[in-house]
Amino acid sequence: LIRDEKKRDSKTIARSYHLPPTTNLSTHDITGPTLHVQKGNGIYIYDDEGKEYIEGMSGLWNVSLGFSEKRLVEAATKQLNELPYYHLFSAKAHDPAIDLAEGLIKIAPWASKVFFANSGSEANDTVVKMVWYYNNALDRPKKKKIFSRIKAYHGIAVGSGSLTGIPKNHADFDLPIKNIYHTSCPHYYRYGREGESEEEYATRLAEEFEKMVVEQGGAEECAAFIAEPVLGAGGVIVPPKTYYAKMQAIVKKYDMLWIDDEVICGFGRLGDMWGAETLDIKPDILVSSKAISNAYLPLSCVMVADNVYQVLVTQSKKHGVFAHGFTGSGHPVACAVALEVLKIYEERAIVQHVKDVVPHFWEKLKTFEGHPLVGEVRGIGLIAALECVKDKATKEAFDAGLGVGAKVAEFAQTHGLIVRNLGDSIALCPPLIITEAQIDELLSRLSKALDDTL
Ligand code: PLP
Repeated sequence: LIRDEKKRDSKTIARSYHLPPTTNLSTHDITGPTLHVQKGNGIYIYDDEGKEYIEGMSGLWNVSLGFSEKRLVEAATKQLNELPYYHLFSAKAHDPAIDLAEGLIKIAPWASKVFFANSGSEANDTVVKMVWYYNNALDRPKKKKIFSRIKAYHGIAVGSGSLTGIPKNHADFDLPIKNIYHTSCPHYYRYGREGESEEEYATRLAEEFEKMVVEQGGAEECAAFIAEPVLGAGGVIVPPKTYYAKMQAIVKKYDMLWIDDEVICGFGRLGDMWGAETLDIKPDILVSSKAISNAYLPLSCVMVADNVYQVLVTQSKKHGVFAHGFTGSGHPVACAVALEVLKIYEERAIVQHVKDVVPHFWEKLKTFEGHPLVGEVRGIGLIAALECVKDKATKEAFDAGLGVGAKVAEFAQTHGLIVRNLGDSIALCPPLIITEAQIDELLSRLSKALDDTL
């Protein structure tokens, strides 16, 4: 009976009971959901009327192996039958968690330990606490300030939401909390000055950052810098080439930790296993989530270098416990799925596949630079954004009230393509298993959506 009713009036039911995340509740209450998803297959999803869509965003940047990976279903089922849950508090262990930790250290050998959580937000909240705990252990009680960037996205909980540098995520939630600061967003197209080269722009940003660090008390008070190798939800922003070398020099100079948020960039997205490899970043702490379990079950992790870990050990000795952990930390079913993800990456050479299709993706995508609506085509690997502008020559943006990006995304949906608009930038982050022919189909649907918006 419930199913029949659901079929009859799923829109009413969806808006009657569900409080949806990151949604305009006022319009949702009137119109209901914009898409009712029923099933998935490969890079495609299907709505409740059977219409097919290419998932050009891999869901929320996370379903890298697509929506029908049977091996993951089998791994989850096997684990559910064997041991559906056990916790890891007070030095408990089970195979999926310890095997996954070992597998992750193999692909990130600079780290020595892995802590598990359930979401990117929880992992980044963990990082904030770890940084503070670390400096308390080292008897540096004033060294607590953490620097992030304007337009960064690090999550939505109290700590991680504070690290996020997007005003909408702070407004009226009373964020950010104290000790979190935001330095400039490294987007040359938008913020580079007239006549300034990319190199000069990178130098300016590094100088601005150093000034901020000095103003905030330098080495005595500044504890860490957190960065996504490529800013994702903030607009798919790839910093200028020399930016990370310059920023890393400052972080080192003031004895701060480098926190590498690879929630989107990890697991092959940029063309290497880690964004840190692609962009030459040397992290002290790395955060991963999303593609780690192909998003089939919630899972995230914080990987720490041994120098950081050893300090946590001394503090834990003092208190008799490292008193931080989630009920779901290292959930055996999520870990079993993630272990299978690692096996699939190795056996099917997923990262090599990304390297193979990337030249084709970019050759085709770059042709959008000729489109009258598109001011910039940016990205790296299999993550990209097209920024729609009112005037290509002056880069003048559309009036925010026009919602041009939202219109492109809406038209894309009518043409059977899911993309996400970040303001007037259209983000693309397709499943990594996408083929060249599917890339062509995706871009052809996108092209129609852009033409409809004109
Ligand atoms: N960090 C980055 C870079 C992200 O893109 C996200 C989510 O999109 C998060 C952290 C937060 O992850 P979650 O939504 O799982 O809490």
